[in-house]
Amino acid sequence: MEKIKRTTIKDIFAAPQEYEGKQVDVKGWVRTRRGNKNVQFVALNDGSTIRNLQIVFDMSRFSDEELKPITTGSSIHVQGLLVASAGKGQSVEVQAGELEVYGTADPATYPLQKKGHTLEFLREKAHLRPRTNTFGAVLRIRHALAYAIHKFFNDKGFYYFHTPLITSSDCEGAGAQFQVTTLPLNDLPLTEDGKPDYSEDFFGKMASLTVSGQLEGELGATALGSIYTFGPTFRAENSNTPRHLSEFWMIEPEMAFYEIEDNMDLAEEFIKYCVKYALEHCADDIDFLQEHFDPELKERLNFVVENDFVRLPYTEGVKILEEAQKEGRKFEFPVFWGADLASEHERFLVEEHFKRPVILTDYPKEIKAFYMKLNDDGKTVRAMDVLFPKIGEIIGGSQREENFDKLQARVDELGLTGMDWYMDTRRYGTVPHSGFGLGFERLVLFVTGMQNIRDVIPFPRYPKNCEY
Ligand code: ATP
Ligand code: MN
Repeated sequence: MEKIKRTTIKDIFAAPQEYEGKQVDVKGWVRTRRGNKNVQFVALNDGSTIRNLQIVFDMSRFSDEELKPITTGSSIHVQGLLVASAGKGQSVEVQAGELEVYGTADPATYPLQKKGHTLEFLREKAHLRPRTNTFGAVLRIRHALAYAIHKFFNDKGFYYFHTPLITSSDCEGAGAQFQVTTLPLNDLPLTEDGKPDYSEDFFGKMASLTVSGQLEGELGATALGSIYTFGPTFRAENSNTPRHLSEFWMIEPEMAFYEIEDNMDLAEEFIKYCVKYALEHCADDIDFLQEHFDPELKERLNFVVENDFVRLPYTEGVKILEEAQKEGRKFEFPVFWGADLASEHERFLVEEHFKRPVILTDYPKEIKAFYMKLNDDGKTVRAMDVLFPKIGEIIGGSQREENFDKLQARVDELGLTGMDWYMDTRRYGTVPHSGFGLGFERLVLFVTGMQNIRDVIPFPRYPKNCEY
């Protein structure tokens, strides 16, 4: 074949007039082939967009034998003339001139046939599901959101701060940790009292995968002013829910000189920015997901962008839930002041009571982490959870306790050890500061309208599952 620069299908549809009447060179995977003995139509997808490019084969120029390998899933290279299309469904198409088949996909065994597959089936074939329309759409949206996140913070003067994935701090308290060790598990060196001897381990002490970069993030914020982290996080909790993964990505901004109100303002602006970015830059993919999975998707996304989030103290939230209960609303888990709210409670407030996102603040200190700033009432802390329709908690954050003595008292009360490095942020030049954590996959869930968090990450990890 003659050497012509390859064009992506996305580029062709972005400016078809630039290519019309010219030879184009396209490469991709065949979605479908249909036609008759005179003409054959191939729908070609190259992953750059959800849209397929129609390739037309004039069968007076090609033999049946040449087209035989072109089945669903095969990969081809085509050169031909881009012309306005007479058929409906597409504006332009390619009149095939030259064909090269890269790889066949035997229809007898290729798992992704053109009929739609269930998401459960595709989860079993997770190594191939990025080739489906649905996962293509989800993964492109995921990319756009990741880019929007970096852009949002960069444009605001935040610095991307890299916190460690392997940590020896076991006080993060956000969830059960996976241990990292090179000790031989079938021949453990033991200390005198029969415990594993971590002095023999790789790091000379016990180490784990991080459950949150926040504590280290605070070291960044109290030096660079405003930082954010964006990286993988690991939790060994046995939560088999549609909202939990064992390995997920988290964004954790941390800001010096921010009080709780500033923190809430930032969280609300941040989520709205990301949702708006996806609406503006992923229209084709969102349209596809709306059509096939969730007829209210765009309405819900626009609603979040256009409306203020409710801001409500925990104590008021509990009153509303207790009222609802009195009026006959049943909940599986008990509601009382001091209870950690379950997802059903959060979703009641958001979906049934207020019908909009809610930022719940000032939780009882007993159910929140040790580093949150104590309110004057001595009972509640300046926590803020952002609760979303269909998702429940999407963000958890707080103003941090900046007073050395108050924080030390909490550390002692809870018997936390090895915190000296963290306490130095309060010991030297302490400042009011705040931050929060957004679960990236929960944001992707919300924006795509998918139902299960395992379907918004390419290679999900969850209890009893670690494929590829
Ligand atoms: P949940 O109560 O839903 O388990 P959490 O209180 O443990 O959440 P945080 O420790 O505050 O959550 O973590 C910050 C954010 O990280 C959460 O708001 C959520 O968006 C996300 N997140 C937490 N755990 C998971 C998980 N296992 N998988 C995916 N995202 C998670
Ligand atoms: Mn959790």
